[in-house]
Amino acid sequence: MYVYADNGATTKMSEMAINAMLPYMDNIYGNPSSLHSAGQRAAEALYTARETVAKCLGCLPNEITFTSGGSEADNQAIISAAAKGSRKGKKHIISTSIEHHAVLHTLDKLKKQGYDVTLLPTDENGLVTAEQVAEAIRDDTCLVTVMYANNEIGTVEPIREIGRVCRDKGVVFHTDAVQAAGHIRVNVKDDNIDMLSISAHKFHGPKGVGALYCKKGIPLVNIIEGGAQERGKRAGTENIPAIMGMAAALEEACENIETNTAKVMPLRDKLIAELSKIPHSRVNGDIQKRLPGNVNMCFEGIEGESLLLLLDEKGICASSGSACTSGSLDPSHVLLAIGLPHEVAHGSLRLSISEYNTEEEIDHIIKSVPEVVEYLRSMSPVWKDLESGKRQYYFK
Ligand SMILES: *Cc1c(COP(=O)(O)O)cnc(C)c1O
Repeated sequence: MYVYADNGATTKMSEMAINAMLPYMDNIYGNPSSLHSAGQRAAEALYTARETVAKCLGCLPNEITFTSGGSEADNQAIISAAAKGSRKGKKHIISTSIEHHAVLHTLDKLKKQGYDVTLLPTDENGLVTAEQVAEAIRDDTCLVTVMYANNEIGTVEPIREIGRVCRDKGVVFHTDAVQAAGHIRVNVKDDNIDMLSISAHKFHGPKGVGALYCKKGIPLVNIIEGGAQERGKRAGTENIPAIMGMAAALEEACENIETNTAKVMPLRDKLIAELSKIPHSRVNGDIQKRLPGNVNMCFEGIEGESLLLLLDEKGICASSGSACTSGSLDPSHVLLAIGLPHEVAHGSLRLSISEYNTEEEIDHIIKSVPEVVEYLRSMSPVWKDLESGKRQYYFK
């Protein structure tokens, strides 16, 4: 059995998204900047896609800028708000310790340029509060950027309340909504959001395309210089097929949020209930304020990497917060930020499911994970030490 349970990394494209793209890879190939009829057909398509994305997010079409994805949207939002602040001598930015690297690394860059960055700590479930944000805001604060939902542990932040605080204090509020859009209700007006990033491949759209919502009145700074596309704010010939695929996927996802949640959430809760029976394990992230498809757990005495490889042999695609990407042995900054010790954070597993998963697939995961955990523990020197009392268990 093959089970794809890594939707936090990327998703399978929906039929609707693929079908929405095909004509623009075939007959409708004009450049929307061209004045002839072929170009104008592409320009019209681009306009309808912008309208669709704007409608789904609750903003105006000209408040949407298409980008190459979530990372670019995060970069552009933060750099633009920072530049606006700098012109008024405001160079303080507030964020959290559990943001995506697209946010954290952009903030690192700004720090080197003389900005002062406050990273708010979260509680043990990954939550920050509006009160924390209110207390951190200073006279020279130009931007608050807090993610809508965390990509690793699935925690959903109190965005509306944080947005309210920022609005009251006149500080620009950006949110990385890449994991939230299309999965939970997101509306920039209701949620008091000034800037917001999304990425199509996280909601069954194509990779390499995203969008930045930027409220009228906040000037964007170009990350890509060149032609006058996207009202002069993002140069480069628009990727019309990808943009059409994103609009179709977002519309489909938003129309089906309630139905998808009703399907996915019980599967998530079944996974959590069953996998929690494994001794010396714990669920990471807030149980209530959580993305409908996210399961993140730690199992003591094992390595997440080995767990992933053995699950892959059983046909299960998952991910771990301990990925030794770029040769680093550091576990996930998110798991460390919520207070887990290194050795426990190394034994993490993220299962991110979608409406495409079936009950049978979930049962296959429920059968396989305990088998693999038991097998790995039987060979683990760390587990031996835990069992013999040489080391203390972290979870009861
Ligand atoms: C995936 C992701 C991104 C990056 O989006 P890309 O389109 O892959 O650049 C940013 N933030 C979060 C929370 C994500 O999950």
